[in-house]
Amino acid sequence: MRVHHLDCGTMRPRGGFLIDGRPGIRRRAEMVCHCLLLETSAGLVLVETGMGSPAGRRPDEWLGRRFVRLTSPVLTEEETAVQQVRRLGFDPRDVRHVVLTHLDLDHVGGLVDFPEATVHVYATELRALRSPRDRAERNRYRGVQFAHGPRWRPYEVGGEPWFGFAAVRELAGLPAEILLVPLAGHTRGHAGVAVDTGRGWLLHAGDAYFFHGQMDPAGPRRPPGIAAFEALVQTERRARLDNQPAPVAHARARPRDAGHGVLGPRCRRVPQAEQRCGPAGVTPHRAAAAARSCCIRSIPTNASTAVAAPIATRTQWPAWNSAATCCR
Ligand SMILES: [Zn+2]
Repeated sequence: MRVHHLDCGTMRPRGGFLIDGRPGIRRRAEMVCHCLLLETSAGLVLVETGMGSPAGRRPDEWLGRRFVRLTSPVLTEEETAVQQVRRLGFDPRDVRHVVLTHLDLDHVGGLVDFPEATVHVYATELRALRSPRDRAERNRYRGVQFAHGPRWRPYEVGGEPWFGFAAVRELAGLPAEILLVPLAGHTRGHAGVAVDTGRGWLLHAGDAYFFHGQMDPAGPRRPPGIAAFEALVQTERRARLDNQPAPVAHARARPRDAGHGVLGPRCRRVPQAEQRCGPAGVTPHRAAAAARSCCIRSIPTNASTAVAAPIATRTQWPAWNSAATCCR
């Protein structure tokens, strides 16, 4: 299976150090939306969809004014999943399946760009969308992003044990190399998505964690702004705290296997690394754009660098894709 790692949305909240742990508090932090495009025997599979093409044309309606003000997202057409699929030389209609970690607006905004795809998600998450049990659930999902009528394929939690997880499951019509992993807490039906890259398992941890330091085998750490944000947006605190070590355990499980890792943090960490895939002599920002579509060919064996996961760092994945080369 060939795996492409994409950033399908950049957010730039105020707070600098408080969010991403890097020096300076007056600057904006930078957070990304990790997506994976998988070339499989069942066609193209997109894991997460980012903010979607309507976000650039009508951001307040699509994402909500509060979200736009708080995160100052970079809403360029080139960041949308559909444009990146095209740039890789594919027809967006060839994306037959979308697998989601959960239904927050920065994960499902691009569903509308792939209206024919079957959308795989935990049934619990779909119930939270359709029958919110409180104001927090009512407010977190954007009805307008689902108005086109996605072709849902819901699943109850269940299945086989896998790397310490009690019950992971395969998905209908998809190869056994793609698994849905229960990681509830951030939302009721939050999932991880595991992908066998051929060199090891890669776990997309969604919003189970936001900062790379939370996966540090020497001891989890996170900036105070991230800690506050995680608590603010959680649906089930106990489940979130119980599940948060799970990606760490996964990353540790086979640290010597290249390709075994966790995809999740959303915060920028190693600026120079993102230029590795970019053309020489361009600005970091342009290099970052060029680096967005990298093939995953190798993942470092060190568990701490293999953790690329939750919402926080665009620059972390080229570090994690240390031997990756650009597709373009
Ligand atoms: Zn979320």
